[in-house]
Amino acid sequence: MSGRVAFVGAGPGDAGLLTARALELIAAADVILYDRLIPAQALAGARAGAELRYVGKEGGGPSVGQEEIEALMLERARSGALVVRLKGGDPFVFGRGGEEALALAAAGIEFEVVPGVTAGVAAAAYAGIPVTHRGLASAVALVTAHEDPAKGDQALDWAALAAFPGTLVFYMGVRTLPTLTAALIEAGRPASQAAAVVSRGTLPDQQTVLGTLATIAADAAAAGVSAPAITIVGDVAALAGELAWRAPAGPLAGASVVVTRARTQASELASRLRALGASVIEAPAIRIEATTEELPALERYDLVCLTSANGVELLFERLAARGEDARALAGASVAAIGPGTARALREHGVIADVVPERFVAEGLIEALAGVEVSRALIARARDAREVLPDALRERGAEVDVVSLYETFAEPVDPARAPAIAAADYVTFTSSSTVRFFLQSAAVGPSTRIVSIGPVTSETLREQGLIVHVEAARHDIDGLIEAIVAAHAGGES
Ligand code: SAH
Repeated sequence: MSGRVAFVGAGPGDAGLLTARALELIAAADVILYDRLIPAQALAGARAGAELRYVGKEGGGPSVGQEEIEALMLERARSGALVVRLKGGDPFVFGRGGEEALALAAAGIEFEVVPGVTAGVAAAAYAGIPVTHRGLASAVALVTAHEDPAKGDQALDWAALAAFPGTLVFYMGVRTLPTLTAALIEAGRPASQAAAVVSRGTLPDQQTVLGTLATIAADAAAAGVSAPAITIVGDVAALAGELAWRAPAGPLAGASVVVTRARTQASELASRLRALGASVIEAPAIRIEATTEELPALERYDLVCLTSANGVELLFERLAARGEDARALAGASVAAIGPGTARALREHGVIADVVPERFVAEGLIEALAGVEVSRALIARARDAREVLPDALRERGAEVDVVSLYETFAEPVDPARAPAIAAADYVTFTSSSTVRFFLQSAAVGPSTRIVSIGPVTSETLREQGLIVHVEAARHDIDGLIEAIVAAHAGGES
């Protein structure tokens, strides 16, 4: 049986602009042939066994010829596969999708076309530019500025473009901007007309440059604009002054960061990184499971130590299951290993009595130096270090340890491998994330390794890795601060 091909538009870059049908087909595909300008997260939903193949023609990677792409598509479809031909923006707008569809039609292979949000309209919208506007523009032209007569491209009709009664949106024109604008002016388009260049539109590091037809080429060069970018020529471009609605790029704009924490814990770190402009690759390497170990009656202790927010959540779940609440801790001093743990306690109505300045077991021991302890309970993960119980026992305290949860390796989704290998940063928030991540994934050759603190760093070194960045504060705030500082320092 013959398979079929879906030409799928992946939108201009923001993963939120992938259509529902695009996501459905990506999830169902046996083979995905993808171009360079697709959102980094677009392949995240591909199924584990799918063949993912980069066939882009630009940007350093191996170049695959058009005929080769078409041959591959035909071959895979003939062998019965559902092939998704994934392209940036819309597949039929400057994407050569039409040519590829013709090849399928000629071969009698079934195909489907899933339109995408095209960059010319989307990047403009994200810059606050409506491409049509009552009273300003009642037509819009999508134009390629990359004309190569040597390759048989048609030359642009500058007189017709100059006279066009509406907005001109040029694709692929960063390098040709000076000649393009000069040609338009020479053909009679007013030099004073508003113009804008939007590069990396819809992405966290989108950049907009506003000017006039006369100045925009120099303005864009001065701003260091790079591809991919679109150029908008028309009165509507001036509306960006009032309608620019996107928050300015955050300090991590353009950085991609891998988060290896367990899925249940990753969301806070991931969303905070995203809010700073980073694109986040979630690659959970560990999974947390509650144990069935019995929780002793808390009234027996004068000190209860919690060593993670997870521990806090599970402690309160256990208490609730036997009809107790925060009052079970009323008679004890409560120690939290760091502010994340303290915050989790606060959410359950308990203010920690002790929070150390250094968020490791050693720090907690120091912070507990002045606290009278005769019976202590340490609620924590199974297989945690023995530093804390040992130190308290040395001080003569009776110490019980309850393991509320256990961490297991979670194989990293192989579909994430290309994005992980290309990431700028990979974050490790515990020794177990390091060990488990390395069981099923690898750190990219130019990826910088970020560790939450000395214990995690030691594990990284034991595994033969270099620690590029270590957080000075060993919690999520500290980790984020360290990445922001490293990113600011690493860039010119
Ligand atoms: N099929 C795509 C266009 C492919 S041609 C679409 O419909 O959008 C590639 C050109 O698209 C780039 O040279 C650039 O001009 C434009 N482009 C693609 N992604 C862009 C982005 N995020 N921001 C600005 N322009 C983009």
